[in-house]
Formats: sequence, structure tokens, C-alpha cells
Amino acid sequence: QPLLTLDGVVKHYPAGRGKQVHSVDGVSLEVGKGEVLGLVGESGCGKSTLARTILRAVSATAGQITFDGEDITRVKGARLKALRRSMQFVFQDPYGAFDPKMRLGTSLDAPLRHHGMKDKAERRGRIAEMLDRVGLEEEILDRFPRECSGGQLQRMVIARALLLKPKFLICDEPTSALDASIRAQILNLLVELKDQLDLTLVLISHDLRVVRYLCDRVAVMYLGQIVEVAMRDDLFSNPRHPYTRVLLAASLAEEEKTGEHELVSQLRGEPPSPIDPPAGCRFHPRCPLAQEVCHTVVPEAARPGEGHLVTCHFWDQ
Ligand code: SF4
Ligand code: MG
Repeated sequence: QPLLTLDGVVKHYPAGRGKQVHSVDGVSLEVGKGEVLGLVGESGCGKSTLARTILRAVSATAGQITFDGEDITRVKGARLKALRRSMQFVFQDPYGAFDPKMRLGTSLDAPLRHHGMKDKAERRGRIAEMLDRVGLEEEILDRFPRECSGGQLQRMVIARALLLKPKFLICDEPTSALDASIRAQILNLLVELKDQLDLTLVLISHDLRVVRYLCDRVAVMYLGQIVEVAMRDDLFSNPRHPYTRVLLAASLAEEEKTGEHELVSQLRGEPPSPIDPPAGCRFHPRCPLAQEVCHTVVPEAARPGEGHLVTCHFWDQ
């Protein structure tokens, strides 16, 4: 039973002169209850826009989003406000997540008040409970953001996301702004909380090591579309899409400290503009396996195995 189902979700933005930015272009995907789904791809591929569309921070241009059995594609008003309690976002940058002029206690109190928890002691109690879950002391509530470390702030971001007892969290690069030494702590915290609170997670990351560590299943996104989905071990041991293979190779190279420029050279340049995506397979201008047919014919999704989907004409080569 999926918690979230995306069916052909499209998000376009006007780009002037009648053109459209194809940020998200026909994404179909399910996220099961209790699952951790990784969403990977280069920056600009539409991961964050997809997240914002799912969370209804922006409305889909087309397609359907079903959450917990309800079509939420166009919910508004009180229904949307109620939905916001169930779905939360953990931002990339903990340093910019809180109002710098406000004490953290005030920042944490606001969402509870906004969602109608009138009793001050009850709010205090809920905040204390969540601080405890993320491993922070209550005295931090009297501090301003600038008086905290990045790791403390990211724990605060997570505490705030959990205040309203959501079922579903999207974490967008939750550790990329942190020191390497703190990254593992935050990732471990997310795993613990997920189990304790029965959360379903979507983890957006360009770092495949993070995804490998944390996720049950992985979706690979390229230029607004999902090009491959598989169970984690299947994806890492048996990647089928040429783009996934390059990402994995680049991640290995990075581990061996050859640096990120490696990725760019293997991929033959920058991704094309989402304003005018290439015809046929969108990956063809950069694909090492591209053939004539790839320039004109959009590949259909193939199923190399149970739960494994790949969109490439030559996935079995
Ligand atoms: Fe490469 Fe062609 Fe497969 Fe696209 S369809 S990923 S261009 S081989
Ligand atoms: Mg992003």
C-alpha cells in the first residue's frame, strides 16, 4: 500500500517568449509506507521542484498526486493546511532555516500556534519531546541561530519538521551543508527517527554514498524525468541506465579523491537546458551509448527485473 503515488506529474514554469521550463516532466512513482526512497541526480535536474510539487508548495501543471488515499493535486484552504501537518520538508541549509532575529524557541512555537495548539504548556511539552528525540537540550530554545553550530541547527530543523507529527518527510540534501564529521550523526538520527515515529522518507541527494547508506529504494532523475528506479542493492550492483552507471562511477571516483570534475568529463559537458529538452532520449547528447534511434525515439520504460524500471533503448547492453 503506497503512501504517496505520483502519476504523470508535470511542473513547468513560464520562461518568457511562450517557452516553458520543463522542470518536472511526467514523473510517475510510488513511495510505500515506511519506505526510504532516495532521489538522485545532478543539480538542476528537477529534484527540488519535484519535492516542492509533492508538498504542494507549488501546484502541479499536470498529472495526479495521491497521498494516503486522497487526491491532493489541487486541495486548497483548510484541507491543504491539514495536509501540511502530515508532510514536512527538511531543508538543505540549516543556517538559513530560522529567522536570525528570533530566538529558536519562538521559531519552534510558531508552527504549533499556526496549527491551532492553543495551550502554551502543551506546546512547550511537544517542543521538549521533539528536542529530546533529536538529542538537544531545552536551553537551546533561548539562543539565536547564530549562537548554534550547523549540526545543532540541523537537529533543530528536524525537530521543527517533526513537531506536527507528520507521516512523511522530504529531506533535501539534509547533510550537504554540514562538516563530514557531523554528517553521519545526522543521517543516523534520521534513521532512528524514521523507525521510532513510523515515518516515510524521501531523501534527495547528489551524494550516492548517503543514498546507499540510508535508502531502501532509489530513483534516478535526469532533466525532469525518472530514468531508473530499483531497490538499493539492485541499483548499486546492477545499474541499467547509462546515466546511472556514470553517476555510480563518478561517486566511486570521488571516494578515491579524483574529484567532481571527473563526473563532468565522463558526462560530456553540462546538462542541456530544461527550456528546450533534447528530442528522443533526453540523455542522448551526453550518452556514451547513444545511437541514431536515441535522437528521435523516446525510450519506453523497460523492466529488467522485479521492481526495477529503466528508460533506455539499450538497457540490456
Ligand atoms: Fe543512451 Fe540511447 Fe539509452 Fe538514451 S536511450 S540512455 S541515449 S542508449
Ligand atoms: Mg536542489
